[in-house]
Amino acid sequence: MSANSWTIAAARDALRKGEISAVDLTMSCLTAIDAGDALNAFVHKTPEIALEQARAADARLKGGEAPAMCGIPLGIKDLFCTKGVPSQAASNILKGFKPEYESTVTSKLFEAGAVMLGKLNMDEFAMGSSNETSCYGNAVNPWQRKGSNVQLTPGGSSGGSASAVAADLCLAATGTDTGGSIRQPAAFTGIVGIKPTYGRVSRWGIVAFASSLDQAGPMTKSVRDAAIMLQAMAGHDPKDSTSADIPVPDFEAALTGDIRGKVIGIPKEYRMDGMPSEIEALWTRGIEMIRDAGAEVRDISLPHTRCALPAYYVIAPAEASSNLARYDGVRYGHRAKLSQGDGITEMYEKTRADGFGPEVQRRIMVGTYVLSAGFYDAYYNRARKVRALIKRDFETVFADGVDAILTPATPSAAFGLGEMADADPVQMYLNDVFTVTVNLAGLPGISVPVGLDAQGLPLGLQLIGRPWDEAELLNYAHVLESRAGFVAKAEKWW
Ligand code: GLN
Repeated sequence: MSANSWTIAAARDALRKGEISAVDLTMSCLTAIDAGDALNAFVHKTPEIALEQARAADARLKGGEAPAMCGIPLGIKDLFCTKGVPSQAASNILKGFKPEYESTVTSKLFEAGAVMLGKLNMDEFAMGSSNETSCYGNAVNPWQRKGSNVQLTPGGSSGGSASAVAADLCLAATGTDTGGSIRQPAAFTGIVGIKPTYGRVSRWGIVAFASSLDQAGPMTKSVRDAAIMLQAMAGHDPKDSTSADIPVPDFEAALTGDIRGKVIGIPKEYRMDGMPSEIEALWTRGIEMIRDAGAEVRDISLPHTRCALPAYYVIAPAEASSNLARYDGVRYGHRAKLSQGDGITEMYEKTRADGFGPEVQRRIMVGTYVLSAGFYDAYYNRARKVRALIKRDFETVFADGVDAILTPATPSAAFGLGEMADADPVQMYLNDVFTVTVNLAGLPGISVPVGLDAQGLPLGLQLIGRPWDEAELLNYAHVLESRAGFVAKAEKWW
């Protein structure tokens, strides 16, 4: 097995034992990346930075004081500002933008010795579920249906991250999740993705989509890797006023595999009409695995679930319309060509009209509408109230002794690229039906690959935890992962 396909845990141990150097490990990823151009996962490659960081990591490893992430080659979602390296949020409006600063998450990873291989494709401003709104063109899922060469979406918005990790172009990647953008692509590509509790990971230096929902997290090949990488990403940051000043536990040490006596809730509202029978069957198998491991499985109700998607698609665009007001052609990136006589208003209008893609424009319009004086109470305030009820549903079940909740991660397996092109945008939004509740309530959620569908595509289950309880959540996920024994890999066609 070539080194680019290793887990973080395996690479860490091999690096520490001197069985491989960080430079060789990085080279094996750089080779895989160059051979993987058809996946369109990496949109800016940074081999010089990677090799320089790898050499520094090797020096540190020799000194014997290397943290777990030292020498680990990663891909970084294009939403993270990386100093001196294009950071475009997959948007034309940020074309040519090279930040003067480093996001807190990437700084922390680099301080821990991690290596950056390049920037990863995503939906424009993280708005989407298929990576098809990217200004770079879509990333492609390494998985294909049995006997078919139809190209599938890796999911979105962290589609490049998911594709790169699943295809072994890197050991792991950063993702961000506003309504499901870590968990849905993880499920579509057979990898692990965790969205931490809101406030666990600093948002500083991450291009904002919906600030009360956005949260960064790791996308990895195993639950253990998610624990290791989250450890390096998490922690209080005075530069983000919503980052929590609470200690970060040892996540990897929490992976005991013992969940006896724990209570796992199964919410009846997640059994949706028209849900494919394979998803239903997967969920049933997951429930059995958890029960076999000695946990108590309990039927629960989260009554406001059906209101989550509409509330999300009011709140997220509202916040986005405000956050995206800063792209005005003056301070960052692209500025439209102006005609004689154009004033500042024309400059804003033209810049925003050709800088933002159609989905981003739709969100800005929806957001502006729901915040407008005449409709604020009818939409935005109402959605905020619904959000509070959704949060209360979770608080109630946790107060009743439920330790975590098991649901499907997505309502389907990966779909074909272009398949939704003519569909109503709401069809695409339905992808988030199982994931947005977690963002609205600020909870941690993790997607774990559990099986393959009849067409040979990966399917995932989601575990939702108590706030700040990522350690326990990772342990449940670890149990599910080991019982499911998912080891399948995409057959190489690229
Ligand atoms: N698909 C959802 C959206 O388009 C979620 C995106 C995300 O989590 N960044 O808003």
